[in-house]
Amino acid sequence: MSNADQDGWARVKGRLRAEVGDDVYSSWFARMDLEAIEEGTVRLSVPTRFLKSWIQSHYAERVLACWQAEQAQVGRIELIVRSAVLRSAIVKPKAELEIGAGDGGRFNNNGNGRPQPVGDATGHEALGGSPLDARLTFETFVVGRSNTLAQAAAKQVAAGKRGDAVMFNPLYIHAGVGLGKTHLLQAVTWTGNATGERKVLYLTAEKFMYGFVSALRTQTALAFKEALRGIGVLVIDDLQFLQGKSTQAEFCHTLNALIDAGRQVVIASDRPPSDLESLDDRVRSRLAGGLVVEMGPLGEELRLEILKSRVLAARSHHPSFDVPLPVLSYIAKAVTHNGRDLEGALNRLLAHNKLTGQSVTLEMAEREVRDLIRPQEPKRVKIEDIQRVVARQYNVSRSDLLSSRRTANVVRPRQVAMYLAKTLTLRSLPEIGRRFGGRDHTTVLHAVRKIEGLVGNDMALAEEIEILKRQLQE
Ligand code: ADP
Ligand code: MG
Repeated sequence: MSNADQDGWARVKGRLRAEVGDDVYSSWFARMDLEAIEEGTVRLSVPTRFLKSWIQSHYAERVLACWQAEQAQVGRIELIVRSAVLRSAIVKPKAELEIGAGDGGRFNNNGNGRPQPVGDATGHEALGGSPLDARLTFETFVVGRSNTLAQAAAKQVAAGKRGDAVMFNPLYIHAGVGLGKTHLLQAVTWTGNATGERKVLYLTAEKFMYGFVSALRTQTALAFKEALRGIGVLVIDDLQFLQGKSTQAEFCHTLNALIDAGRQVVIASDRPPSDLESLDDRVRSRLAGGLVVEMGPLGEELRLEILKSRVLAARSHHPSFDVPLPVLSYIAKAVTHNGRDLEGALNRLLAHNKLTGQSVTLEMAEREVRDLIRPQEPKRVKIEDIQRVVARQYNVSRSDLLSSRRTANVVRPRQVAMYLAKTLTLRSLPEIGRRFGGRDHTTVLHAVRKIEGLVGNDMALAEEIEILKRQLQE
């Protein structure tokens, strides 16, 4: 690789850092290396699978855009996990991540095969809004005990007219993952924009940050603020992801300015305002000063209703698709609270039905959705499994974890593995120490405390641990 390439890479990193902020940059990009540039393809490597999948799903487009800003001829980014051994070997890795060319530069990061936005959504995107999913409307939102209030409040907001007194501001909806927050927020956006009464802008917190940071860079922060102020309803999804001091300060100004001007603000987050630790007190109390509504887990009845409405919707494209009620009841009973799993379960039945031509039976359902079924009791996790999974994800060997090596790339995974052993199994500290190459229980305790202390501040690590836990408990 030439020096020019390395210089280019340094500039790209500078751009990335400026766009995402120091915190995000050091969490996700500090360990990204340039491996090669060939014929418009840039190959980048990261040390772990976590980083790869995170960057892939959250920052793919942005990385490409930064490259293109430096070198217009770059058409694609390949992201690979570098292995310690193969480091400088001339193995051409399989293209694992391809951004650009083929898909018109758009990277579909929702992973659930949702259609790309259609119709009015393009206008909404031109405004700088985040993409909308045409299916997430009030018509398709099923109301049950856990979400009645949230739905009613959202509908009220959506029906608001220009110049109306604003009843609750902001409307703040919080709920766990897959419980319908995004669905409600997008429903508000569709409805509001369809009536044309008030301009509704839907932004993920990320998009808010990105819009703001890039506006600052191009010296148009004022224009960005002005544009925001032209909005009748500002909808911000996943507020918990808002990071960085300056972004938060800007969010605070925007919030105050909008509310004071009588504009409606709607927010969703996975936690109540009081738990948004990184926001300052004034913002939190402003957020809590409107209407705060929690949506609970989808109950069995609600799950059944959602499934029924989904089957109906699917039948408009696949008229022969039929799911007997006992099968729906079974799925509603067995599958977890998460709306995404319900959708996943039905999609599998549909796929099976389409591909094999067999009609849907209880037996088929039991077989197809086995892994989405809520475990009756938490699965017992074995220490060997923890070691195996951790070693694989961090790209070290299991014997490294058990060895006495103290290099950083082994120490952290080892601590993580010990921490998981302590939190996911009932083994005692001395027993865990013994299973990790005969270490003392105080070493294990130190590791557990260390990781506990770090996860509060290091979002990359917290995410890694979540992913590991999920893998181990699956
Ligand atoms: P969140 O944003 O809270 O993580 P989403 O809004 O993305 O959750 O919902 C996950 C999936 O579950 C979506 O496909 C959504 O349409 C569906 N879903 C959740 N709640 C409902 C509901 N009450 N009625 C219909 N579909 C729902
Ligand atoms: Mg969501």
